[in-house]
Amino acid sequence: MQGLMQHGALTVDKIIDHAALWHGGREVVTRSVEGPIVRTTYGAIHERAKRVSNALLALGVKPGDRVATLAWNTARHMEAWYGIMGIGAICHTLNPRLFPEQIAWIADHAGDRVIFTDLTFLPIVAAILPRVPSLEHVVVFTDRDHMPVDFKPAGEAPNYKGVLCFEDLVAEHPADCAWGGFDEGTAAGLCYTSGTTGDPKGVLYSHRSNFLHTLITLQPDVMGLSQKDVILPVVPMFHANAWGVAFSAPGTGAKMVMPGAKMDGASIYELLDSEGVTFSAAVPTVWQMLLQHLRENDLKLPVLNKVVIGGAACPEHIIRAFQEDYDVEVVHAWGMTETSPVGTLSVMTDELAKLPYDQQMPYRLKQGRPPLGVELKLTDDAGNRLPHDGKSFGNLKIKGPIIAAEYFRGAGGKILDAEGFFDTGDVATIDDHGFMQITDRAKDVVKSGGEWISTIDIENIALGHPKAAMTAVIGVAHPKWDERPILLVKLKEGETATKEEFLAFLEGKIAKWWTPDDVVFVDDIPLGATGKIDKKLIRQRMADYVLPSLAAAAVVAEAAPEPEPEPPAATLAAADGAQAARIYAPEPEEPLSEPPPLLEPQVVEALAEAPSQPVAEPEPEVVPVAAAPEAEPAFEARGESEHFPLGPLTATAAAALAPVPEEAFHAKPVFVAEEPPLAMPVIPSKGGKKARKADAKGKSSGAAGVLVDVAVLVALAPALLVAAGAVGVKLGLFGQPVGYDLLTLDWAPKVATLGVATGVLALIVALFGGFSKLWKKALLALAITIATLGVMVAANAVGGRAPPIHDVSTDWKTPLMLSDAGLAARGGEAQTVEPDPSLPVGSADFAGRRVADVNAETCPAARPLVLARSPADAYESAKAAVQAAGLTLVTDDPIDGRLEATGQSFWYGLKDDLVVRVRPDAAGARVDMRSVGRAPGADMGRNCRRVGGLLAVVKG
Ligand code: AMP
Repeated sequence: MQGLMQHGALTVDKIIDHAALWHGGREVVTRSVEGPIVRTTYGAIHERAKRVSNALLALGVKPGDRVATLAWNTARHMEAWYGIMGIGAICHTLNPRLFPEQIAWIADHAGDRVIFTDLTFLPIVAAILPRVPSLEHVVVFTDRDHMPVDFKPAGEAPNYKGVLCFEDLVAEHPADCAWGGFDEGTAAGLCYTSGTTGDPKGVLYSHRSNFLHTLITLQPDVMGLSQKDVILPVVPMFHANAWGVAFSAPGTGAKMVMPGAKMDGASIYELLDSEGVTFSAAVPTVWQMLLQHLRENDLKLPVLNKVVIGGAACPEHIIRAFQEDYDVEVVHAWGMTETSPVGTLSVMTDELAKLPYDQQMPYRLKQGRPPLGVELKLTDDAGNRLPHDGKSFGNLKIKGPIIAAEYFRGAGGKILDAEGFFDTGDVATIDDHGFMQITDRAKDVVKSGGEWISTIDIENIALGHPKAAMTAVIGVAHPKWDERPILLVKLKEGETATKEEFLAFLEGKIAKWWTPDDVVFVDDIPLGATGKIDKKLIRQRMADYVLPSLAAAAVVAEAAPEPEPEPPAATLAAADGAQAARIYAPEPEEPLSEPPPLLEPQVVEALAEAPSQPVAEPEPEVVPVAAAPEAEPAFEARGESEHFPLGPLTATAAAALAPVPEEAFHAKPVFVAEEPPLAMPVIPSKGGKKARKADAKGKSSGAAGVLVDVAVLVALAPALLVAAGAVGVKLGLFGQPVGYDLLTLDWAPKVATLGVATGVLALIVALFGGFSKLWKKALLALAITIATLGVMVAANAVGGRAPPIHDVSTDWKTPLMLSDAGLAARGGEAQTVEPDPSLPVGSADFAGRRVADVNAETCPAARPLVLARSPADAYESAKAAVQAAGLTLVTDDPIDGRLEATGQSFWYGLKDDLVVRVRPDAAGARVDMRSVGRAPGADMGRNCRRVGGLLAVVKG
């Protein structure tokens, strides 16, 4: 029996329809290829995409026709994207990072009829046109002012009808095109795999697979996007639909920020910062550059919330930097062009999230678990399923409605096994938590003595060496073990290192038999078109390489017919040296072989001579060419001829990929939102990140977060109270009774005791409540409280040892008493000044004792000063010392040899009264002093210090 629900075709035009209708005013911001930042909205994109559809229909494009794009991530690319798919044509995203001959091969194989391209890529389009007879129209993503005047194919292109301006097409065609109306299984997009094995193969996405992929990516444990997000897809639309973001962002109504041609650290940071980006996705290389930029310029990421890192294994230092230094959640993901591309994501399960962060790290480094809609299995070569024990290596296979069933035009034949699973070509393990870990590409794994060695594992560990900039491991032939691993290292600039250093670094971190047989230092580790290490090219380059041990053995065998069991060290060293000289000899500049180049010689020359910095002022009518964008991986000039019917190209393709320099264009925006935004774009405030994080973690996490924040505040409160008390009295905001007695002596210790309770509670919540990110904060709260209590206990101990006096005098036999004026200044509230005071009961060790005796025991300074000077002279010295110490004179009687003054402590303004008396003595003059605090209790030695200090000055 069939269900009785509606059956709406899952076609992607509905995604942009939804975005326009419900989030029409949400912004899409682009760093345009022409230079300026331009802004549009989903509403405007929708309308302009309809115009693109009409333009395509007018050019004769029919459902099922392939329409190519060779373009950066921009709003215009989105308009073409939805305009093509909406009428049932197929959007074929071409990867400009491939060599032009590969692009030509792919476009020809796809039978592309129209190509939309950026100004940047016109030299490539001109070069491939003669090789792609199906191509009829070139549409340039620009306006009339920036159209090239001299664009022409680099040779005869029989069906080529001309070059068109995108903005003209949009302006000339109406916006009333009907979209959809076809089956959801209709092809929507075409993307060729990077071709690391054999010729590139086309993955033909359907509307349904894209729609379902969008729903899958929106799951909270996948990308978890929301309309509140601001999304920067650095991953290009030509790399598996920008990992689906070109659908999921409009699907949720999130603001989009498109990086255009600039993906270097500074440019990406600028957009993250200025547009308030909360979510981004890119390969590790891009993040590496961003992190370097952040460190070098001491920048922060206050708004960015989450990054998805995939396409290649994500190194630990990147995960740690994001999480620990910038508080950005990292989702390490795995996928393929064939899987739409999301396959697995390393999102902590509830159980793992309860572990301390360091114990989560091994799982974060894995590629993770599949979301709903994706099935995985691990098999041996015979197709038998392998256990999920985290140890068994096997072939990773995948199944689901977002996974390719076959390649375009049947390339590669049958690609599913009997159970309908697609063999990913990756070798992996799956552990008992369900976390999959890629250990290698099947063709890269090193097979040593019948066992497999993961090259990725060794590379990642070696990359942790502080001198390593890049690492790669490949297997090389070995007569006994079949293959042995060798490690290639590109050192950071200015570094030198030895093989032994790297081998020692690996020791203990990998199984002994995994230890590479050699470490080769190279200037460059080549990357392929999607930013992954090109091991095929490395293997080609290392074709003549022989392991040092084998080379040494050969040398020894030649020298002496009987082989030595251990070759002498000197021979080994010599063999090593010879080897090092041979490996990585510079590549020849010239092409490896004919046939003729795709670019005309003058274009080749122009590209080859392109300066490394943007051209300052190019001729307006010429399409300017600058260096390859900083963010792009180094491009290899050598073709992979055995897989391509076309020969390699002479020119460096990198130059052809150069972005147009910003200065070359006027600063006016090329296009703007055609309608005023329906709603103001929401740019998150700096404080928004925490709120969003609390949102994402749910209510309970929010409550825990609040508790931990309160614990930190309580921990800091005693110090704040003491500081507030001191500053308040100092500024005269309140008196000593509030600042000192209440805030400092009463409240601060009580709050510190409370801090112990809240700190412990916060730690318990953080450790056992599953809020792994909070435990550090909770520990911090407890640590601050303990430190505060420590300070208080220490102060008490010192105070306990110090006598509880506030009265110090050098003469108790003839007591120094305050005059009426001094008493008046002291005030009625102050402690009484007695001629011979005793300490009260409750004064611990000193209870009931005479202050005179306690002074004699505890204050060595409490001794009269006898000077061989006249009393008048001694008096003047004493008066000068009192004034220099900042005390205020109350009485001054040189005749009587007596003065009184008032002193005040710096912060709390605690007041003491001083009496100085100078009398004639047999030796000359005798100086006595008494300093007596107005507040009761211990003065912590303040009056003793004052008397001692003043007498020392008088003595000179
Ligand atoms: P592509 O189709 O060009 O996106 O390449 C897909 C391949 O990239 C996969 O089969 C993996 O070998 C590799 N890959 C993608 N993501 C990861 C990852 N997170 N870790 C390791 N390898 C990855």
